[in-house]
Amino acid sequence: MEIRIEKTKNPKIKPDEDNLAFGKIFTDHMFIMDYEEGKGWYDPRIVPFGPIEVLPSLSTFHYGQAVFEGMKAYKNPDGKVLLFRPEENMKRLNQSNERMCMPPIDEEFCLEAIKTLVDLDRDWVPAAEGTALYIRPFIIATDPVLRLKPSSSYKFMIILSPVGAYYPQGINPVDIYVETEYVRAVPGGTGYAKASANYAASMIAQAKAEEKGYVQVLWLNGNYVQEVGSMNVFFKIAGEIITPELDGSILPGVTRDSVIKLLQSWDLPVVERKITIDEIYEAAEAGQLEEAFGTGTAAVISPVGGLDWQGRIIKINEGKMGELSAKIYDTLTGIQTGKIEDPFGWVVEI
Ligand SMILES: *Cc1c(COP(=O)(O)O)cnc(C)c1O
Repeated sequence: MEIRIEKTKNPKIKPDEDNLAFGKIFTDHMFIMDYEEGKGWYDPRIVPFGPIEVLPSLSTFHYGQAVFEGMKAYKNPDGKVLLFRPEENMKRLNQSNERMCMPPIDEEFCLEAIKTLVDLDRDWVPAAEGTALYIRPFIIATDPVLRLKPSSSYKFMIILSPVGAYYPQGINPVDIYVETEYVRAVPGGTGYAKASANYAASMIAQAKAEEKGYVQVLWLNGNYVQEVGSMNVFFKIAGEIITPELDGSILPGVTRDSVIKLLQSWDLPVVERKITIDEIYEAAEAGQLEEAFGTGTAAVISPVGGLDWQGRIIKINEGKMGELSAKIYDTLTGIQTGKIEDPFGWVVEI
């Protein structure tokens, strides 16, 4: 398929790189492609960024058949634009599609679409330390019908947003509220899919945590630890690095997988297994909980400074960022931005 390109006649003024909020400003162009049952995906096109017209009966509005991805393009010191393991995001998008009864995409073609769009808007990739161009591919169901069944038509779209540094004031560990009332996902549910509905369901716990003065939620399934906010979570206990195993309730993060492979390359194997909140508290009480951190595209590494589980408060590494967390952060961000060599073949230049 050929991607038709309609360039904007009114290029926007680019924002100040030092004052970028997350996901508020979008570039000049967007990608759209349609799907119809029996016809497949068709009419891939890049058009000026702007509103799309839909009917109020659009099935996505009512039944939430929608999935998305999140990735970043970085500008390296020579001004080249780099993606990080983008084929993994396309693979995961198809896993999400399958779970939500949505049609698969051609992963290679959609990666080409991302590259073509980012290349067209490459002047929008910010260069300041810590900044990036956030890439948001997503798919929505577009049947204008209220009958409850998988839609027979869809739209795949990609929009781009220049984003500021996640840590403009330097990395500070965050305090986390361990949620025991609400759950995000259970095995058999949709937790492993990047399905829009998961995020609607998790907002109430985030709001509750913020009300109590915490930055984020630690999600549990029963007593088993799952994720921290919308990040995967790692613990270093008595020298061993542990992350919850992918049991269908946990989102398989690209950053999670990269951290596991990076640590393996340092001869620090990560144990993927079930881990309970009791075990983490016992380790903390025994002085063996050395570090904890979240992983995700937005923050890359987000150290956990402390936990509050039903009023039982523990501090981790005296609330400071751990040595290993810092080394992982520096290495991963170094590879992503092309500042250090990439021995894994993760970086893709546009
Ligand atoms: C996107 C996401 C992550 C992190 O995935 P990355 O591929 O590392 O960005 C983790 N948990 C949830 C719930 C997510 O939505």
